[in-house]
Amino acid sequence: MTIKNIIISLVLGLLILLAILLIRTLSFSPQSVDSEQYEPVSLNASQISAHLSQAVQFQTVSKQNPADMDYAAFTAFIDWVAVTYPEVHAELELVRINDLTLLYKWKGQNESLPPVLLSGHYDVVPVIPGTESDWAHAPYAGVVDETHIWGRGTLDDKSAVIGMLEALTVLVQQGFKPRRTIYVAATHDEEIGSVKGAGGIVDWMKANDVTPMWSLDEGSFVLNGLIPGVSKPVASINVAEKGYLNLELKVASEGGHSSMPKGHTAVGILSTAIHNLQNSPLASSLDGLTGNMFDQLAPHMPFVQKLLFANKWLFSGLIEAKLSESAAGNAMLRTTIAPTMFSGSIKANILPINASAIVNFRLHPNDSVESVVEHVTLAINDERVSVSIMQGGSASQVSDHSHEGFQQIAAVAKHVHGPVVVTPGLTIAATDSRRYEEIATENYRFNPMSIHPEDVKGFHGTNERLSIDNMVKATEFYIQLMKTAAN
Ligand SMILES: [Zn+2]
Repeated sequence: MTIKNIIISLVLGLLILLAILLIRTLSFSPQSVDSEQYEPVSLNASQISAHLSQAVQFQTVSKQNPADMDYAAFTAFIDWVAVTYPEVHAELELVRINDLTLLYKWKGQNESLPPVLLSGHYDVVPVIPGTESDWAHAPYAGVVDETHIWGRGTLDDKSAVIGMLEALTVLVQQGFKPRRTIYVAATHDEEIGSVKGAGGIVDWMKANDVTPMWSLDEGSFVLNGLIPGVSKPVASINVAEKGYLNLELKVASEGGHSSMPKGHTAVGILSTAIHNLQNSPLASSLDGLTGNMFDQLAPHMPFVQKLLFANKWLFSGLIEAKLSESAAGNAMLRTTIAPTMFSGSIKANILPINASAIVNFRLHPNDSVESVVEHVTLAINDERVSVSIMQGGSASQVSDHSHEGFQQIAAVAKHVHGPVVVTPGLTIAATDSRRYEEIATENYRFNPMSIHPEDVKGFHGTNERLSIDNMVKATEFYIQLMKTAAN
């Protein structure tokens, strides 16, 4: 082969590669969701807003110490629900789970069809003492102004509970009869571990042989300007949630006076271990859930990103490195490592007998507790450091985003919120849903409201609020979803 021929083959090879990259990029177009026909509904925005406002005024605050709980606020809220939604209580059966969680059963005409479960929680997190005056309106006043309903729980998650109760009321008034049984839950302890609420529902459903086809609970939202590179609104319907694991790392040593240290102290040895661990991130992957997510998002990104994602076979390493640079991108890609607590000697001039550290991990569905412990032990590679599990568990199962339940949720979200990009996503925090996977085949996590960057600080924070328009759209979402799912 002459030099000329070699150059010609190289150029030809490059041109073919370029053609492949371009063809893949240009044919990388958004997947469409079947859009069905929905009957129009007219809703009373001021009445729905007034109901959310009233719900916010019950201080159903979950506190870590049970002695600090004001259970009277919870029972008062339940009484208010009965008075405010009489049609729901007349038509549906209500099961009180551990007294404070409400589980409504709307019996379907065909009981051989598997039911669906829609769930939200009415407990809220406390307002951090000292921040009350930072709120534009008092956190439990339930102020409704021209555009918004203000207060703790308007985003997380009383708006979902009220939206579902409003939807049920409208459907009962219309004389709607579901073919498939619908369960609607309002749980009371999501913010402190879901043991009695969602946990109690799971026990009840197991005892009564109820296996929902799918569940829908809180999760992500319709996100505006929150996904870098995507200007369209994105409805992230989350199909999994990350696990949570605390590991304790410990080093024992002889102690003694700090004026005569011998080699590294227990604190020094442990510091090196933590350093090595942080320099050994867990493996990332663009396969599975994360890949499915970017398959939906990337077609809406600028050309260069689109080209990269359309050709993951060639660029996956580059994409993963780039995504890992941001905290949010990194959390999507892999199990995260966060050393959070460290203790050593009790006094400045005493050598430590023990040094210990707690490292918090958020487990990606690709990893298990066992594989993380193994990774940590290898990364530290020092037998003086012991690794023990304090508490935690693996990520949830990954639900199927081609299942009809996901497709119905997606189609209704598009109907209500306009041309949004729908993607399966990953919830980074823990929710009631991780319990529902014991009973329901598929578990989806989505709130049918549209949020912007300025709304994000309201979650568990200050100035939580929801627009009236969003509250009305959420109600319509639940109406259309219940009708579609039930038939
Ligand atoms: Zn929540």
